[in-house]
Amino acid sequence: MRRVSVFGATGSVGQSTLDLLARRDDIQVVALTGGRNVSRLAQAAIAHRAEIAVTAFDDCLADLQAALAGTGIEVAAGCEAVAEAGLRPADWIMSAIVGAAGLAPGFAALSQGTTVALANKESLVTAGRLLLAEAARHGATILPVDSEHSAVFQALVGEDIAAVETVTLTASGGGLRDWPLADLARATPDDAGKHPNWDMGQRITIDSASMFNKAMEVIEAHEFFGLPAEKIKVLIHPQSAVHALVAFADGAVMGHLGAPDMRHPIGYALNWPARADLPVARLDLAKLGRLDFAAPDLARFPALALADVVMRTGGAAGAVFNAAKEIALDHFIARKIGFTDMAPVVEETLSRFASRASLTRSPGSLAEVLAMDTEARQLAGEVANSRCRGAA
Ligand code: NDP
Repeated sequence: MRRVSVFGATGSVGQSTLDLLARRDDIQVVALTGGRNVSRLAQAAIAHRAEIAVTAFDDCLADLQAALAGTGIEVAAGCEAVAEAGLRPADWIMSAIVGAAGLAPGFAALSQGTTVALANKESLVTAGRLLLAEAARHGATILPVDSEHSAVFQALVGEDIAAVETVTLTASGGGLRDWPLADLARATPDDAGKHPNWDMGQRITIDSASMFNKAMEVIEAHEFFGLPAEKIKVLIHPQSAVHALVAFADGAVMGHLGAPDMRHPIGYALNWPARADLPVARLDLAKLGRLDFAAPDLARFPALALADVVMRTGGAAGAVFNAAKEIALDHFIARKIGFTDMAPVVEETLSRFASRASLTRSPGSLAEVLAMDTEARQLAGEVANSRCRGAA
């Protein structure tokens, strides 16, 4: 039996992972973790006969204990308990907690030298260098789960990274891609929270419309594949059928195509290095008829220009960028700032942080990353508040 843990089991990626695990009879589920959705966590723990279920929140412990009473499943609560679950021996671990909370469990998982399927974007963006060093130190394997990075990873099988000229990540353009530029300032969270192709949570869907999601992915690709900023491109591709393109020195371009379903990249990571049958729709190109591509307009998507700044700055810029975009998004969802205020909030936070401390100095430990995250959130809060609607 293969021992498997899922961090963020109650979320979108976590549930897709459990859907795949449920179809197999060679899996022993070790740890499942969640946040506030206790009933979903308990249900999953029972259905998958998990050894332990962990909620990140102490005040959810009693409910989880009650839901799992008499099942023999261990129960725990708190951030430390989630990280400790990462130390439980497992052959494959899905890292799908959202946000900076995913960092510590991810590092714990890597420290046991196992295979970690990495969905948590924030790990690579805020602490890419540390994360890869931790994996190397313990002989752990990180497999990308973001669909674009899985696509690049698959296109690179058997290839030499030195022969790569460019990597292109595709972007649907999000829910506002057909809006006139002048109207974007009045877009609401509901407008931005509708995705044309992918079924995802509200935050990542709004990040798709603002292209902050793609900006995060560009930085992820820079960190994970070790490619310089100038080799990473973004192409608007409304159909979301081509997930990424890798161009080589001999003029060849390898593209990865497939239906927009996260169970493909998750399943690829689960079966890697083999391929196995997956319950995803098959791409019917004749039915699709056409594939469109366009260069992104940086006036419409300033987040992409900010990603470029982050890659060229290096050091702490990724941690500050991530924290600032989270705070800007919180303010937008709370309708305190407008859609087009988010990028200026991130830009100003980066520049204010740089005037206080060196942005180019890389954090030397996980604790330092988290301290920078806290400081940048506070700074971004001040910047966002100064732009709040009705602010003097
Ligand atoms: P969701 O919001 O759907 O799920 C997040 C998971 O994290 C839930 O299990 C949630 O628990 C848990 N969680 C929330 N807060 C905490 C906390 N403080 N400590 C521990 N656990 C917590 O996110 P997604 O599944 O969409 O995304 C997960 C990660 O994968 C993100 O980094 C995202 O950017 C990335 N990703 C997502 C993709 C997608 O298609 N959705 C695609 C590629 C990458 P609960 O719900 O119980 O509160």
